[in-house]
Amino acid sequence: MALAGPKEVHGDGRFVLRRKDFVPAYLKAAEDGTLRRKAREAVALLGPPCRVCPRRCKEADRSKGAPGVCRVGRLAQVSSMGAHLGEEDVLRGWKGSGTVFFTGCSLRCAFCQNFDISQGGRGDEVDARELAGIMLRLARQGCHNVNFVTPSHVVPQIVEALVQAVEDGLSIPLVYNSGGYDSLESLAVMDGLVDVYMPDFKFWDEAACGRYLAAPDYPSAARRAAAEMHRQVGDLVVDEDGVALRGVLVRHLVMPGMADDTGQVMGWLAGLSKDIFVNIMDQYHPAGKVVNDSPHAAIGRCVSEGEMDAARAAAIKAGLWRFDERWRPDHVV
Ligand code: SF4
Repeated sequence: MALAGPKEVHGDGRFVLRRKDFVPAYLKAAEDGTLRRKAREAVALLGPPCRVCPRRCKEADRSKGAPGVCRVGRLAQVSSMGAHLGEEDVLRGWKGSGTVFFTGCSLRCAFCQNFDISQGGRGDEVDARELAGIMLRLARQGCHNVNFVTPSHVVPQIVEALVQAVEDGLSIPLVYNSGGYDSLESLAVMDGLVDVYMPDFKFWDEAACGRYLAAPDYPSAARRAAAEMHRQVGDLVVDEDGVALRGVLVRHLVMPGMADDTGQVMGWLAGLSKDIFVNIMDQYHPAGKVVNDSPHAAIGRCVSEGEMDAARAAAIKAGLWRFDERWRPDHVV
């Protein structure tokens, strides 16, 4: 497949917004007072029961520090942050995407490629002021955006910190980089605050989601979430340098032996929008609980080149055409 250069990413100009005409969504919300109201609404989602993600943990009383499945209580935890040069070209630009990796996760992916962070608890608690300070540091480093990685269980904490960050001068786009398991309540809070949504769409099959994610409701939740994200911000728009400003970018990690599942996901995405920007990822490798674990033996190998070709062909057959490919030379970064 030919590499997608800037022209293909831009779509002959249809998806380009001049940088000087762009204002991050949350600045408008801060100006009219919506941001502070949303912060209060978001904190109320902590429960009990917690309604921050689709699990709706009845026993969790996170306002008092008692977590549910995600194992994160009143304060968010951060495992690392920095200018990330491994993200998609539309996010990394040449100065990097300002990633904030949150500890914990509401999914329980057996194959998680960041298991020590998502389920191992590696990270430190941060309050709103500290999280705002992290965002500001990334902006001062020149990052093109603040990229919240695995934010679905810490939406209230992010919005509280955003109030402080705006007061301190934050003005770069926000990227919401989730596993796709997001509650409509949390997305309603994020409406008008997020510039770029980057959800995964992992699996179509409910049985696979029960087996590998401990969330059989994942496909329906991911469809609802992706549709809502797209309703809020539309298809991906970039600036004159090909750096994302607003819209949806969907990631799909191709899994071994699951070509039919990929075809279903691509077909659904094309139904949402043929112009949706998709990253079809090839980096799956057995990790987390999959290593030496017989219940997950079917995904105990990497993906073959033939499987990747079939996944891309399924996406093209569905009518999709805006794919993430490396086009920005590494020496520019
Ligand atoms: S965010 Fe955590 S505590 Fe809240 S519903 Fe989801 S998994 Fe449960």
